Amino acid sequence: MPVARSAVDDGAAEKLPRPCGKACRMRRFRSLFANLRVSKPHTRAVTGFGLPAKTPVGGTSLPQLGACFCNFDSSFAMSNSHDSLIIDQGELEALCGRIREAEIVAFDTEFVSEYSYRPELGLLQFATPTECAAVDPYAIDDLACWWNLMADDVTTVVVHGGQAEIRFCLELGQQTPRRLVDVQIAEGLRSKSYPLGYEGLVGRVLGTKVHGKETRTDWRRRPLSPEQIRYALEDVSFILPIWERQQTSLSRLKRLEWAESEFQRMVNDIVNDATSERWLRLSGLHKLGRRELAVAREVFGWREAEAGNRNCPPRRILRDDLILELARRRPKTAKELLATRDMNRPNYKRSLPQLLECVARGRAVPEDELPEPPKLERGDQRGDEHVLGQLLGIALSNRCAEMNVSRQLVGTSADLRHLVRWHVHDERSDSPPRLSTGWRADVCGQLLTDLLEGKISLRVGNPKSDHPLVFEQPE
Ligand SMILES: [Zn+2]
Repeated sequence: MPVARSAVDDGAAEKLPRPCGKACRMRRFRSLFANLRVSKPHTRAVTGFGLPAKTPVGGTSLPQLGACFCNFDSSFAMSNSHDSLIIDQGELEALCGRIREAEIVAFDTEFVSEYSYRPELGLLQFATPTECAAVDPYAIDDLACWWNLMADDVTTVVVHGGQAEIRFCLELGQQTPRRLVDVQIAEGLRSKSYPLGYEGLVGRVLGTKVHGKETRTDWRRRPLSPEQIRYALEDVSFILPIWERQQTSLSRLKRLEWAESEFQRMVNDIVNDATSERWLRLSGLHKLGRRELAVAREVFGWREAEAGNRNCPPRRILRDDLILELARRRPKTAKELLATRDMNRPNYKRSLPQLLECVARGRAVPEDELPEPPKLERGDQRGDEHVLGQLLGIALSNRCAEMNVSRQLVGTSADLRHLVRWHVHDERSDSPPRLSTGWRADVCGQLLTDLLEGKISLRVGNPKSDHPLVFEQPE
């Protein structure tokens, strides 16, 4: 039985009872940690995130098991971590069973992205309140039981800067995470620190030092050394204690709802990103006409498919600037195509016929089906937009400092200009400005619109404060 192999010797693991209630769980918890240097483990009530406070967790009002690792000595993960690499399907399923029971898990991955079309998953790491384990995706064929958990509506999955983890769930698991918590975002909602790296976050929230990243590891190579696994496990072992503290303070600040909607937004952004027309993100498209755009779209589509087939990064198939160059020149023959600078390389030459086909398809697109030029953040802003944007920026910075929330998380300069266009110029073609919707409206919506409408003025109050400005209704 692989219960927390890193934490207990096999004999102890064998004797562990299936938890059937609070006392049982406590006993299990204590025995798990009996031979660890954990100073005074204690349980603390953790309401399932996103559930109303009254909703019992796991069918009872049981506190979640010892979610507090605050004084947890990470040397435990250090000494035994090579044991906690799961390389067997059955063990993974057993781990998933225990995660399901815990209803909360910290999750991280290690991967390599520079050599393949999609990032290649090298290792998955998990931490529940009672165990840490790494899973070897090369040894285990079917990770579905984990992706199912990540996408169910009971299991809270806690990540740190979890964009990659969300993408893996979408691509490998073909599912969307449902109850995701990102401790990096959470920190930005209760402090000015965003985005804070893992090491910084652990230090800030728990006052503990981690050993830093194995940045040079090629996570595709086997066997992984105990040190590598140890470092990888360290990436998850502090996440739950961090979230526990954040959750308490966000709840006190009445910002748990902010956090929840921000986690959801992060997932939505990545889902939308995966389904949007990615060719529109090629830089320099605004210099192209509609016919040229049609060609660029064709070439881009071919490059994506080719990169997928050959499993290599798209830019290795064809550079971005060459897509644009082909769109501008729209060569009809191999000779014309090879006249393009840099197209003479052997790997490009190999694809000559396909590239010519792409150009021909782009040329043949009927006039009324040509793509519209991508919408740009206007370069030539109106003078007032610029000045007002800056004024709002100052007010927003002041407000964020006052409320102790990350300005970067609340809004960008582009968000501010959007607000100006919406309110001052009545440009309402797209969705309402982010700054005047959701929790952002709570932070600054009224302040910024009042300022724009001349209803309030500002002056310097305490110049030594980190929020030195005062906003007032004029007499
Ligand atoms: Zn990691």
